[in-house]
Amino acid sequence: MGNVKCIALVAHDNCKKNLIEWVEWNWELLIQHKLICTGTTGGLVEKALTKKIKANYCTCILDITKLKSGPLGGDQQLGALISDGEIDILIFLWDPMEPQPHDVDVKALLRIATLYNVVSACNRATADFIISSPLIDTAYKAEVTDFIKYIERRL
Ligand code: PGA
Repeated sequence: MGNVKCIALVAHDNCKKNLIEWVEWNWELLIQHKLICTGTTGGLVEKALTKKIKANYCTCILDITKLKSGPLGGDQQLGALISDGEIDILIFLWDPMEPQPHDVDVKALLRIATLYNVVSACNRATADFIISSPLIDTAYKAEVTDFIKYIERRL
């Protein structure tokens, strides 16, 4: 991954306030990267960052992509992007206290992020550590498992 990272942001409804606070706190850094969000989270992130950009007379252009809403397939779209190597960092504030209609998609997203060694945070403290890492704006080569033995296994 290069200096500019592709950062995925997702939050379940009870965690959206927490994520938006974090986004507002880190806005200057986040706007230097490419952001990809599930639909509803993306709308809130875009609104929060646009407000910060305007209030600070910043000239930069916000690079944000909004996928479908999570329960409507957004988590699966994100999983597909991860398997295509398009996502560097996943900040996913999932709700540990409430079942979701798309729990299977949530599990799939967490699995694919782990499989592809994507830098991942599922809580704000870990997100803080990631965003304050010196690697956030330097190039980094993440170890990728070679699945060739699996692909070419004899059946
Ligand atoms: P949402 O989806 O941003 O559209 O609310 C989040 C999720 O994956 O549940």
